[in-house]
Amino acid sequence: MDNNIAIYELEDCPHCRGVGQLLHEGGWNCYVECLDCGAQTTFVDYDDAGSKEEAERAVVRLWNMGKVIRIERGE
Ligand SMILES: [Zn+2]
Repeated sequence: MDNNIAIYELEDCPHCRGVGQLLHEGGWNCYVECLDCGAQTTFVDYDDAGSKEEAERAVVRLWNMGKVIRIERGE
């Protein structure tokens, strides 16, 4: 494992096989969201660089396990 560079392997979206992207919000939490259908993992909070990477790994793991929330858009 290379711990120096935070590059994560993101699987395809569990719902639509779209592209997932690791996103940060407000500088204190992160999540993975599908660029195509908007499915996303839960938010994981962090408060410093160390726990930031931990949080990133956690959401990537959730995403890769298919633990995502699909927010239904109006149809
Ligand atoms: Zn998707």
